[in-house]
Amino acid sequence: MTIAPSRSLRSSAELIRAEEPVLAHNYHPLPVVVARAEGTWVEDVEGRRYLDMLAGYSALNFGHRHPALIEAAHRQLDQLTLTSRAFHNDRLAQFAESLAELTGLDMVLPMNTGAEAVESAIKVARKWAYEVKGVAPDQATIVVAADNFHGRTTTIVSFSTDETARAGFGPFTPGFRVVPYNDLAALEAAIDETTAAVLIEPIQGEAGVVIPDDGYLRGVRELTRRAGCLFVADEIQSGLGRTGRTLAVEHEGVVPDVLLLGKALGGGIVPVSAVVARREVLQVLRPGEHGSTFGGNPLSAAVGSAVVELLETGEYQRRAEELGVVLRDGLTALVGKGVQGFRARGLWAGVDVDPAVGTGREISERLMREGVLVKDTHGSTIRLAPPLTITGDELRSALGALEKVLTDRL
Ligand SMILES: *Cc1c(COP(=O)(O)O)cnc(C)c1O
Repeated sequence: MTIAPSRSLRSSAELIRAEEPVLAHNYHPLPVVVARAEGTWVEDVEGRRYLDMLAGYSALNFGHRHPALIEAAHRQLDQLTLTSRAFHNDRLAQFAESLAELTGLDMVLPMNTGAEAVESAIKVARKWAYEVKGVAPDQATIVVAADNFHGRTTTIVSFSTDETARAGFGPFTPGFRVVPYNDLAALEAAIDETTAAVLIEPIQGEAGVVIPDDGYLRGVRELTRRAGCLFVADEIQSGLGRTGRTLAVEHEGVVPDVLLLGKALGGGIVPVSAVVARREVLQVLRPGEHGSTFGGNPLSAAVGSAVVELLETGEYQRRAEELGVVLRDGLTALVGKGVQGFRARGLWAGVDVDPAVGTGREISERLMREGVLVKDTHGSTIRLAPPLTITGDELRSALGALEKVLTDRL
């Protein structure tokens, strides 16, 4: 059966105007209304095509509608979609086995969104601190890094250092200590006998793809091991191939106690997240103490298993590493030509644009008019994170568009 593409009845401009009175204004999207997508490309309502250089903040690491993922989802839609965890389902064992195997850890707690995985890890770390480490009741602390991004719930924004994310949302959850990122001495000073865990991003995505010095993650691993607290690595954005490895911590040969995955784990189809951990840690949860109606549902498990299968081939990690060189070389050539500096690892870059050329937002809008979609992070920084399926030619054309919008105004 062939299905005719569904055509929107209203224009992009009409649809954008229609959102205004009925949709909460918690985002400021670029003025593009996407109606279809395949691979690296999206198409708007009027049929204009754009190269997707954001990939849903890494939720689309395998591109839009990857055939293997779509097939897994279709197959599962025809069998079983939801059971709740009141019953077992026939997809969950394989998902958990394959994810544990992929990450080198033991046990999986399936959830849906990234923020839920972070919340779940906070609960697990606290319970572990009381039951295993022997921290006095309600005294557990978790050390986090400044400029972190771990999600949007009330507890998570309690330890954000971004005033926009926090202001107006108090009172906040206590029990967190914030130290500068990439500063082992400050981290060591903040850890004491109450510390349940250190929670960090191995690369800070929302902060602008901030990559710590070589040795930082090894240092975090050593400090937490010595102090007898958990190392929780939030790889919701950095993980699953983006940096040229399955996990960003692999660049330093480090294995955390607890790993948080999300975004790309759902293959761009469904929200799938997971806490993956050593058995001694996750086994502190017993029936009734934590859960999720949708977490571990068979559709998510089927898609998540198909994502793990793609990663088992190593192809996407290899592409990210190889094309990462093209990205790095292309950006290096733009330094001084509208680019002040950049940080890149694999197919992931934070690019600091000369503020004289434009804000990150303005650059993003100009790139949109050139048929390339990106997103600014803070100020004059834009983030490049294309699907790992991008070709060298597509990547070079995106870099060409960036050069054009930067140099047109110089
Ligand atoms: C996106 C993100 C989250 C939150 O994920 P949601 O699915 O939006 O809740 C948490 N941590 C990091 C590092 C992220 O990039």
